[in-house]
Amino acid sequence: MLLSYQDMLSGADKDLVWQSVDFLMNQEQNCNWPAELGAMIERENELVHWCHGAPGVAYLFAKAYLINKKPQYLDTCIRSGELVWQKGLLKKGPGICHGVAGSAYVFLLLYRLTGNSKYIYRAQRFAEFIFTEEFKVGSRSLTSIYSLFEGLSGTVCFLVDLLQPDQSEFPLFSVFV
Ligand SMILES: [Zn+2]
Repeated sequence: MLLSYQDMLSGADKDLVWQSVDFLMNQEQNCNWPAELGAMIERENELVHWCHGAPGVAYLFAKAYLINKKPQYLDTCIRSGELVWQKGLLKKGPGICHGVAGSAYVFLLLYRLTGNSKYIYRAQRFAEFIFTEEFKVGSRSLTSIYSLFEGLSGTVCFLVDLLQPDQSEFPLFSVFV
């Protein structure tokens, strides 16, 4: 949020914001970020969610890259996307907070950042997975079906964005404006 409005900040405050971005970039552990600062990511506690982990952290570095074009920020986003491709098929529903559509939004973000159609392919495969029997059987049932973040509303946003990937944006969380 501070990167989005950095014109409002003084020079010293801007420096602090960029130092914070780099500090967070250095917290990466094997393409992911711990749910708590300083925690070690183990197999048992690793989260790959928009709300906790690489699928959400990627947006910070996307914004940073869009502002100053430093390649390490884009590289961090790309590594996040690789982790999501490996581990982002979640059992916590189809939603965007900690569900499959939230994972898949990273691929639409990477498509917009790189133009690489590989990411469209990946987003489509995740979308297909939501409609499989395997997902229906193995996934937690929804408690707030209309919720933007935990229900189907965010999933619908993702599916619509899949039809117009050039304009896709994580709901209420655009890094492109
Ligand atoms: Zn969540």
